[in-house]
Amino acid sequence: MALVSVRNPRTGQYDYQFLPPRRDELADVCRRLRDAQPAWEALGIDARVAVLDDWRRALAAHRSDIITALIADTGRYYESVLEFESVVSSIERWRRLAPDLLRYGESRSSALPFIRLEGRLVPYPLVGVISPWNFPLLLSLIDALPALLTGCAALIKPSEIAPRFIEPLQRTIADVPALSDVLQYVAGDGATGAAMIDLVDLVCFTGSVPTGRRVAEAAAQRFIPAFLELGGKDPAIVLADADIERAAAAILWGGMVNAGQSCLSIERVYVEAPVFASFVEALTDQARRLRLAFPEPQSGEIGPIISARQADVIADHLADAFAHGAVAPCGGALVEYGGGIYCLPTVLTNVNHTMKVMREETFAPILPVMPVADADEAVALANDSHFGLSAAVFSGNLAMARAIAARLHAGAISINDAALTALIHDGEKQSFKFSGLGGSRMGPAALHRFARKQALLVNTNSGYDPWWFQREAQ
Ligand code: NAD
Repeated sequence: MALVSVRNPRTGQYDYQFLPPRRDELADVCRRLRDAQPAWEALGIDARVAVLDDWRRALAAHRSDIITALIADTGRYYESVLEFESVVSSIERWRRLAPDLLRYGESRSSALPFIRLEGRLVPYPLVGVISPWNFPLLLSLIDALPALLTGCAALIKPSEIAPRFIEPLQRTIADVPALSDVLQYVAGDGATGAAMIDLVDLVCFTGSVPTGRRVAEAAAQRFIPAFLELGGKDPAIVLADADIERAAAAILWGGMVNAGQSCLSIERVYVEAPVFASFVEALTDQARRLRLAFPEPQSGEIGPIISARQADVIADHLADAFAHGAVAPCGGALVEYGGGIYCLPTVLTNVNHTMKVMREETFAPILPVMPVADADEAVALANDSHFGLSAAVFSGNLAMARAIAARLHAGAISINDAALTALIHDGEKQSFKFSGLGGSRMGPAALHRFARKQALLVNTNSGYDPWWFQREAQ
């Protein structure tokens, strides 16, 4: 195994290294997790909830180390704090919900009165989680938390682009021995992820469409479930009767938080023609007020581009857009400060669907805005994509907004706001088209992905002879 060197997004220096596990080492980790899982399951939900509560306290005790590592991984400050806090509140949320959700299968009658039915949830023994670099902590745990509460063991492999947070996090896990038996992180690369699929019973993958396809194919070979959460190119639709300042503010946040490096970022905007000019003006005004997070991570809202490879994609999308006639009333370039690569907060006009910036995932603080004649054209353009993660609709008429939402091919639609699935994890939703596959990772269904249902069919008629064949014989 070769050492993996990791680039620091603020300095461009390769200042961190790790050694991915050999296949036999990975298999050993999986064997230990598997060995510990039956006892974890047997503990029962109340005891598992108590263990996760201990972990929540351990996380709080190491808060500053973890956030510092996340800042080194991603170069940004505010989202790192938010990420940490949202993991802690997610533990709280699942602790509250899980006991009721796992109460399943009380005895009930069946079509035959003397046969009673009982149901059991049987956890998948070992869940593998493979996660990306854009929210390294949050996306490594979003599936693992409900899996653990269900009674599974979990092995997590975060992205090789942002692995620094693993060390401080492992220390918090080590502080809670009951948890460390069934939860392990491993620093690894794509080959490690591929090897994991051979060793686990279920895989949760968050990442790009091409890798997601490879994961799904490998999982299909083994007949194990693969839950895929992939890319997006989320549209926002602004109707003429919308509150324009508010729509601009929400879309700005939805498109530029985390420097646009979110699957659920708003990446294209369709605005009814009568309000197009005023919307672009409001959006541009607000975008100009955003500052780059340089020289300090707290100096501004727009952090560096985390992945150098993604910076190349962004440069390509901008060059392609300008070559085809796009205009940037604001931003429109990548700049280098202190070795880090930043994308200026950008509004693009004069764009169309021949451009990569309207069709492919850009993952940058770039908002291309297109005028449309009416809602029908907006819906047609919004649906003209192979992605279907989420979307947003702005209108003064809620009934109209709902009607438009119903025509959009996407799993979650924010109305009069944007990117709300970043904040609200209660609503069940599934990805459409190439944005993913499998049950909802949000809401109660998220937990039920991690258990199989087993039916017990109990014959309660003690005095009776088996008659199935005898009846034939008479
Ligand atoms: P990626 O697909 O390059 O990598 C994701 C993970 O897969 C990494 O941990 C990587 O090491 C691993 N991997 C690589 N090859 C593998 C293989 N053959 N088998 C198993 N694992 C392998 O994605 P990325 O660049 O890290 O992340 C950005 C992408 O993630 C974007 O497309 C973004 O939209 C998507 N994303 C989706 C969601 C969502 O919830 N839908 C959330 C965040 C990010």
